[in-house]
Amino acid sequence: MYRTHTCGELRPAHIGQTVTLAGWVHRQRDHGGVTFIDLRDRTGLVQVVGDPNLPEVSAIQDARNEWVLQVTGMVRPRPAGAENPNLVTGAIEVAVQKCVVLNPAKPLPLAVNTDETVDENIRLKYRYLDLRRERMYNNIVLRHNVVKFIRDYLSERGFLEIETPMLFKTTPEGARDYLVPSRLQPGTFYALPQSPQQLKQLLMVAGFDRYYQIARCLRDEDLRGDRQPEFTQLDLEMSFVERDDVLAVGEGLFTAMVQEILPGKRLLASPWPRMTYTESMERYGNDKPDLRFGMELHNLSDILAASEFMVFQNVLKNGGVIKCIVAPGCADYTRKEVDELTTFSKEQGAKGLATLALTAEGVKGTAQKFIKPAEVEAIQTRTGAQTSDLVLFIADSKPVANKTLSALRLLFRDRLNLADPNVLAFAWVLDFPMFEYNEEDKKWDAAHHPFTMPKMEDLPKFETDPSQILSDAYDMVLNGYETASGSIRIHRSDIQQKVFQLLGLKDEEIQSKFGHMIEAFQFGAPPHGGMAPGIDRLIMLFAGEPNIREVIAFPKNQAGRDVMADAPSPASEKQLRELHIKLDLPEEK
Ligand code: ASP
Repeated sequence: MYRTHTCGELRPAHIGQTVTLAGWVHRQRDHGGVTFIDLRDRTGLVQVVGDPNLPEVSAIQDARNEWVLQVTGMVRPRPAGAENPNLVTGAIEVAVQKCVVLNPAKPLPLAVNTDETVDENIRLKYRYLDLRRERMYNNIVLRHNVVKFIRDYLSERGFLEIETPMLFKTTPEGARDYLVPSRLQPGTFYALPQSPQQLKQLLMVAGFDRYYQIARCLRDEDLRGDRQPEFTQLDLEMSFVERDDVLAVGEGLFTAMVQEILPGKRLLASPWPRMTYTESMERYGNDKPDLRFGMELHNLSDILAASEFMVFQNVLKNGGVIKCIVAPGCADYTRKEVDELTTFSKEQGAKGLATLALTAEGVKGTAQKFIKPAEVEAIQTRTGAQTSDLVLFIADSKPVANKTLSALRLLFRDRLNLADPNVLAFAWVLDFPMFEYNEEDKKWDAAHHPFTMPKMEDLPKFETDPSQILSDAYDMVLNGYETASGSIRIHRSDIQQKVFQLLGLKDEEIQSKFGHMIEAFQFGAPPHGGMAPGIDRLIMLFAGEPNIREVIAFPKNQAGRDVMADAPSPASEKQLRELHIKLDLPEEK
């Protein structure tokens, strides 16, 4: 038997017992000829003390950080004054009677016993060492707890966990597919699933009624902090439901989760706020608002309609808007600080930034000379701006004004610490547009995915104005992140055809890509809907981490590489031959 106890479980109640422990040397020091070691296993640390002059203990003096030891000894109280109240095992220590080195360790490329910052490439190359660090360990445990909570919660409510294939066919989630060449059918490819979307809908046709899966999704996208080529979703789908039935499951699940397994976190509001996509864009400038703080966007186009300022006039004449946010207590910003905000605004695409500083000595700022006192008053009434505040105006096309002010709002959130990191502001954003016009390809794209149900009352707009068609799609947002998307699905093949046609898919293409779906819907498909919360992103937010790599055991780096195993890597000649693949690589520069 390697051990009788784990390191972290020992308490004063064990005093007098002889125990055998196994673990890593977290830290070691010599003191008056005696060796003190903090021995670590998954459960925690315990101090073990050994006299190397005793023959059975002598190996202890060789032990260095991260060596693996087995020690047998007696649990005893620490001497008075030597207790460590910061450690749950800090009242006791183990007096070693026997020490066996199970495995020595080379000096480590990164320190495990501190949380000092280490270059991320080194952390990823030696991920198995990085994962020994307490913070990473806690993140992985949190991940386990979240997933276990999901499984328990949904199983209790009649959901069945069903696996769906990894080798499948293109799923139109809007990203690029990862392809897998088929050896048995040369020249053909599987696509790795961007999500189990089609399969979960087919499970509804099969009558399973309530499905979920902790599903791996693969999308060949450019990477960002909150993106990875493979990521995990809680994929779920329900039959005979309306939108609110699906939202109730999501809201119930995450509300209960926060209450039961995230003791340090607090929900901003329960029930969660709901707003339409249009309202979210108007008030926050984006469709994933951080609701932990105010600083909402205000539309001032009406108040400034008669402004003498040419810039404002021109923007309004061209169908643009004048919108603003109010930065509390920032009226004393210097010229330089305002210039920096202007540069930032231009980086977001705005042509410029105008400001109004409401100082105790009167109104100042770049817009002061163009805005009449009555207009200032009207602006204050609408926005609630007070003395000492700075009003920031963007006059531009609506999308640019929204994007810029939304970015400025988040900049002030971080600068002025306006958002409590322990608050979880879940909310639902509803009624997304069904289609987006793709200027580049001059065609309509599905804003969510093509299986999303358009609002019934908008069906006539297919012929007149597709941009005005709303859908039964919804997002779950949390603290400024989109944390789930979902929708009520099309279950009628005639509507599905209409959507595919509007997306510009030819009949043969519809048949070859989605024939199985269209056909399935002709065999009695129940009305159904679902959603897919992103597990990595949620855990990142629960853990307060800056990116999802910190909550994934073995993530890829920013360039999509696994630097530990060195993947992707070239295939052998033989492998390529078997797959009938010839490489046509770009010339090396
Ligand atoms: N499959 C969708 C996605 O990955 C989610 C859903 O509609 O259920 O975004």
